Amino acid sequence: MSEWYDPDMSPEEFRRLGHRTIDMIAEYYESIRDLPVYPKRTAHEVESAFEEELPREGQSPDSILDAWTEKILPNATHLGSPRYFGYVNGSGAMIGTLAEALAAAVNMNVGGWKPAPAATEVERRTIRWIAEAIGYPADCGGLFTSGGMMANFTALTAALRNTAAYDMAESGLQSPERTGRFRLYMADHEGHVSIKAAADMTGIGRSAVVPIPSRDDLSMDPGELRRAIEGDLAAGELPFCVVAQVGSINVGVIDPIEQIADICEEYGLWFHADGACGAFGAMLPEMRDQYRGMERADSLTLDPHKWLYVPYECGAVLVREPERLRRAFSMSAPYLRGTIPTEYDGLDYYDYGPQMSRGFRALKVWMMIKQYGLDGYRKLLRQNNECASHMHELVKKSPDFEVLHEPNLYIYSFRFVPAGMQGGRRDEAAESEIDRLNQRICDELQLSGEAFVMTSRIHGRVVIRISVCSHRTTPADIDRVFERMHAIGLANLGHV
Ligand SMILES: *Cc1c(COP(=O)(O)O)cnc(C)c1O
Repeated sequence: MSEWYDPDMSPEEFRRLGHRTIDMIAEYYESIRDLPVYPKRTAHEVESAFEEELPREGQSPDSILDAWTEKILPNATHLGSPRYFGYVNGSGAMIGTLAEALAAAVNMNVGGWKPAPAATEVERRTIRWIAEAIGYPADCGGLFTSGGMMANFTALTAALRNTAAYDMAESGLQSPERTGRFRLYMADHEGHVSIKAAADMTGIGRSAVVPIPSRDDLSMDPGELRRAIEGDLAAGELPFCVVAQVGSINVGVIDPIEQIADICEEYGLWFHADGACGAFGAMLPEMRDQYRGMERADSLTLDPHKWLYVPYECGAVLVREPERLRRAFSMSAPYLRGTIPTEYDGLDYYDYGPQMSRGFRALKVWMMIKQYGLDGYRKLLRQNNECASHMHELVKKSPDFEVLHEPNLYIYSFRFVPAGMQGGRRDEAAESEIDRLNQRICDELQLSGEAFVMTSRIHGRVVIRISVCSHRTTPADIDRVFERMHAIGLANLGHV
């Protein structure tokens, strides 16, 4: 027999490489406020940087670590920069980085209790802490997911399984007992695309999502919701769920939760709250009023990798009655458990969600909540909201920008409209020019590396949208970015 291959490092070698890696990470954090936020390279250039034959022979760990500095970092977008305002992306806090390494080291599989006793209990406790922090019933069920999308999918699946008039886990959508089309309801303007994708994944299709007209502030109109449900019932369809946005994607608005909860109760519908953007805001006592009724949601999506600054990936779904998750996802096979229960069995998370093998995601959340505490988190959330309000003040004061909405939470949209084009009615040509100017501002800003800001659309028009979801952003960053946007906008007048 040839020599036995043992790829593990010696403890000394591991320690040396580990110290080197920590030094690399520490240097990265030292420079993160000043790095160009975006690499300014085409997709093709980035692809070329990684052109390399499949390694036939193994390489030295030192040369592999070199590639981090030479290839990964120069082609990275730095979401941890205080001037990264793209999508709704979190910044990733330091202790989370250490937690990721520790979780990988112990490598528990949090699908079952047996391969992950400590990890299961850390997850159970952390979910409970989160519920407590936002005022959701602490005896709820729930688990961490890859993100908000999978949390929404988990919730919609649970909604269907628990509201269908037949055993849907067994016969699915093909049951001859199904008497109509399943319907779910969501605000037309700010309803999140992931709900449509989740509806698609459950098999009911994107068209099962009924858009409900919004009020002037872009929150769902509960009167219209009631009308739509009544209409569908009269037509023999199967309303099963209403999705409320708890912090919406363009303007951070919170749907009228209490009224939606009432309507769901009245019609026996599942109430799902998509709080991926904003549910953590309920940690702030001064904002609690807006969240009243969230504790009545049958299920709630949260995204710790957004507004808890947890490094990717980490979403979460909470369900008021844990048994309803089990009913939707429970699996059994003789090889999953010992066949006869003993006192050494515990909670098996694979019974409560779509994943079987699962990583120790909870560790980073658990450590971050311990490090900052509820008080620390409240300060951070307030700081983010203050940054959005600060942008609002700058927009209001400038003659070359237009206010589109009052700020709520940390997501804020506005529009560059040069003074000469403000006031009075604008024709389509003028609106299109303004659209192009706003797009140009964001494009140039991205390519400058100074900040990362994106556009969105509100009522069909291009707007600048910032999401201040970083624990590093200060009002000085907002000032700097606003000045740059203003300058770019003015420099492009008449050129787009
Ligand atoms: C981000 C987001 C999602 C999707 O979450 P991921 O973590 O990106 O999977 C769903 N709903 C809302 C409201 C979001 O903001």
